[in-house]
Amino acid sequence: MRCLIVEPVFICEYEIEARKVVEDRMNEYLSPTNGFHCVLRKLIEDNLETLLVGTPRQLRRQITLFQKFEADEVGIRRKKAYKKLLGNIFDYQAFKSLAVTRDYFSAYRLHAHLNLRVCAYCDENYIIPVSDGISGRRSKGPYDHYYPESLYPYLAISLFNLIPACGTCNSLKGHRDTVVYTLPHPYLVNFETDLHFKVSKKRLKRSLKPIKDDFAINLQVVSGCISRVAFTNMNTFLEIDHRYTNHRSTAKVLYDRCELIAAQIKPRFPGYNNKKILQSFFNVSADGYEDGPLRKLEADYLKNKRF
Ligand SMILES: [Zn+2]
Repeated sequence: MRCLIVEPVFICEYEIEARKVVEDRMNEYLSPTNGFHCVLRKLIEDNLETLLVGTPRQLRRQITLFQKFEADEVGIRRKKAYKKLLGNIFDYQAFKSLAVTRDYFSAYRLHAHLNLRVCAYCDENYIIPVSDGISGRRSKGPYDHYYPESLYPYLAISLFNLIPACGTCNSLKGHRDTVVYTLPHPYLVNFETDLHFKVSKKRLKRSLKPIKDDFAINLQVVSGCISRVAFTNMNTFLEIDHRYTNHRSTAKVLYDRCELIAAQIKPRFPGYNNKKILQSFFNVSADGYEDGPLRKLEADYLKNKRF
């Protein structure tokens, strides 16, 4: 649950370099003597800037445009070949490849620019890519296509369709059509403020009961920026509540640390207010929290705490 921000300079450079790749691929795969290829080339050229760096809402409008084109120009028999053609033109493999020497059109460069170490959807898992330019060894680019690549191949390298996500979220989300089943978009919502983990202490007899009985963890919407439907889809498809039940031990550790601070440390530092305690002992500030797995859970738990 991380909101994503890309600097305008990066967007411009990405567009320039991705455009070169698409134009190269069109020259390679689209024949000037094939009528259908010419119509497709015109559609892509007319919309190329939006297809590469359009906002999520603009990308949604591109889907409508291409769906109309497909209904008018692509027969059922040609659909498979048409999708393969688009897959070759909007070359996601080139984006992920270390062989691409261009700076900005690179999965690794985008990842470094976003400065993100955890999954944008779940905040549960690290997504640090591993690349080694000398030996060529690397991990797979950790991206989910918000609008699935299998359904909308012309959005395969759209900057705002590439969401850094862990393998668990990627496989749980799968090919689900986000046009039909909308999800909160990490470039449109602020997960840090619009969602909140509610941690409820169920029992106090911690020494007598197993850890799993102590805390309930549920994700909640706290602002109107995320629709109820999108939130429910996210929680259902990505199984957030279910996955976070595995982290009740984290809540217990926090609970114990808070108890210790309240009982032993607070009396020794009477000048420390709540804010200073959170900053000094938990690295949680009013502006946000550190980049690491489960940090949102920790911050949400602690921000409700009074010492
Ligand atoms: Zn994830």
